[in-house]
Amino acid sequence: MNSLGTSIVYLKGVGPKRAEILQSELEIFTLSDLLTYFPFRYVDRTRIYTIAEIKPDMPYVQLKGIVKTIEVVQGKGRNNRMVAQFSDNTGTIELVWFTGIKWLKDMIKPQVEYIVFGKPTEYNRKMNIAHPEMEAVHQQDEKDMGLQAVYNSTEKAKRNGLDSKAIGKLIRTILEQHKTTFAETLPDTWCRKLNLISRDKALRLIHAPTDWQTLQQAQFRLKFEEFFYIQLKLLNQLGLRKRQYPGFNFEHIDNFFHQFYHHHLPFALTEAQKRVIREIRHDVLSDKQMSRLLQGDVGSGKTIVALFTMLMAIDNDYQATLLAPTEILANQHFQTLYEMVQPLGLNIRLLTGSTKKSERQIIHEELASGALHILVGTHAILEEKVVFSNLGMAVIDEQHRFGVSQRARIWQKNKQPPHILVMTATPIPRTLAMTLYGDLDVSVIDELPPGRKPIETIHRFELDRQKVYNLLDIELKKGRQVYIVYPLIEESEKLDYKNLFDGYDHIKAAFTKYQVGILHGRMPSEVKDMEMARFLKGETHIMVATTVIEVGVNVPNASVMVIENAERFGLSQLHQLRGRVGRGAEQSYCILVTPYKLSEDGRKRIDTMVRTNDGFEISEVDLQLRGPGDIDGTRQSGLLNLKIADVVKDQKTLTLARHTAQMILDQDPELTSPDNKVLLTTLNQMNKGKTNWADIS
Ligand code: ADP
Ligand code: MG
Repeated sequence: MNSLGTSIVYLKGVGPKRAEILQSELEIFTLSDLLTYFPFRYVDRTRIYTIAEIKPDMPYVQLKGIVKTIEVVQGKGRNNRMVAQFSDNTGTIELVWFTGIKWLKDMIKPQVEYIVFGKPTEYNRKMNIAHPEMEAVHQQDEKDMGLQAVYNSTEKAKRNGLDSKAIGKLIRTILEQHKTTFAETLPDTWCRKLNLISRDKALRLIHAPTDWQTLQQAQFRLKFEEFFYIQLKLLNQLGLRKRQYPGFNFEHIDNFFHQFYHHHLPFALTEAQKRVIREIRHDVLSDKQMSRLLQGDVGSGKTIVALFTMLMAIDNDYQATLLAPTEILANQHFQTLYEMVQPLGLNIRLLTGSTKKSERQIIHEELASGALHILVGTHAILEEKVVFSNLGMAVIDEQHRFGVSQRARIWQKNKQPPHILVMTATPIPRTLAMTLYGDLDVSVIDELPPGRKPIETIHRFELDRQKVYNLLDIELKKGRQVYIVYPLIEESEKLDYKNLFDGYDHIKAAFTKYQVGILHGRMPSEVKDMEMARFLKGETHIMVATTVIEVGVNVPNASVMVIENAERFGLSQLHQLRGRVGRGAEQSYCILVTPYKLSEDGRKRIDTMVRTNDGFEISEVDLQLRGPGDIDGTRQSGLLNLKIADVVKDQKTLTLARHTAQMILDQDPELTSPDNKVLLTTLNQMNKGKTNWADIS
């Protein structure tokens, strides 16, 4: 018996040429890789349908009958096709071929009984099957009956004889050669508790299922295992870090924290805000380093939580920092925090790419001497020359724009890593968060401050622009302000800028009584800041902009967000943009302007926005529409390399895997019990970088 780590080249039926193709086309190097090259679907060859039953929306079906006639039909140019009338005793259906006619014409014999296999479609009100697989009834191989696994292959692989069938055959060879059982990777007790079939059984069944029910058991087992080990790895890292890195203990939470809480708080905190502050408080008293993710929809009030968190550090003579992804946002945070901490007499400064040299000098000095309490800024803070004397707390806002590596760099700002609070306004579906941020603790602000009226979202076609203007007119007369946002996509940048400038001219002409500002990425940052500042102060009434305003900017008096070409934006972006309004007590509006003709996807996005304001619901739809691949941050997480599980379709299994991993680590944090030995071995193999899933023994 070969070890599963053996190169694929030694497998019977492979050889050097095919091995090369398997490697370059399908990334299959070893027997183990091939064994875990799972089918992407199955076709049911257990059932034979009658022609009368066939409907156009059916998947692949199997029919049994006789070819009555075959003819080659002359098409335009050289596009001939071959059509066969195929009948059973319930009706007749057409079989059609467009290529390989010459050869097929001699192969397919009239009046012989065939099993025909293919996907029915409707063409010219007649049912047909294009390019069916055909086998004379007496030739049918027993092995091909039952549920048949279908494997992904590429054009090049197919040309070299490695189509789905051939891949299946190679895998059968491995299964037959491997006489002993494939090693188990999960503890017995858990397999029993969760009703998981053995790994050996699952691997065999997944490639050659006997029926749908056992197939499901095999899928469940293997999907669970895949999710489980990702979760075990993440949670194990979290645990390791907690054991390894002591955290600063902020035991004195009295002075600034209490002063602010009792005397300067501009509003009563929501229950959700209080709960999150308590969770953070608990973390910083636990002697462990905090790595917490704070999720809260736009406008849920994360900034004040960030402030309280930083005050905890300052009360204990540590410095604090707040990182924002853009200059505009860093500016805004600075302004807000500056005003709030003024009465406390705290020293706070702003560091961005455009901070003047003289100010930088002061910042460096005050950081070193400890005179600076809070540093707000952009990634400029991450530069090496920025040295804190004693950084105790780092808050990172809008995490999805920072990479994981940047998160890591904040760690190195101190000999001992500071506590870290990551805040995100992009709600991530819970399941995705588990995997993306599986190594962080999670808090959620699931409540908006009181008195907010839900934003009303309206869809308008471009032809109805006058209606949009009417609403703007009403709101502007009330003294409110308006955003008008244009898409800016790199590929069509030139045209997009033209639209933006045209729109700006248009609006200026239509609203002569009001001041109109403009904001886009090509403007120097001083000019951007100035434009933003004028809008904030109410000196401009309408702000025409690209998505530079997407993140975080807070202008409570703005009550209308018009999004032009809304169909070109993704859901999470639309939701972010909408979150720029509805920050005051008045009724706010979001108007999505689109052309009349919309793609199905586009319509779904617009409908979702009109239907709900709930960021979590929106993120779920987003995930369904786009798949995890396009959601920010998934690329580096390895989520796309899943072999069998699917973060969208298998959410329940993911949750179960997460809970199971958590329970196991709670009971046995270092996985030292004999029962868990197999987990430790597998984890260590994974961490070595080379996971040889099947070869673990
Ligand atoms: P986000 O979570 O989007 O960062 P912010 O922190 O910017 O939200 O808060 C949005 C607005 O709500 C701000 O104007 C803020 O002052 C206000 N706010 C926050 N918390 C409360 C509260 N508990 N009661 C009333 N207003 C609040
Ligand atoms: Mg914010």
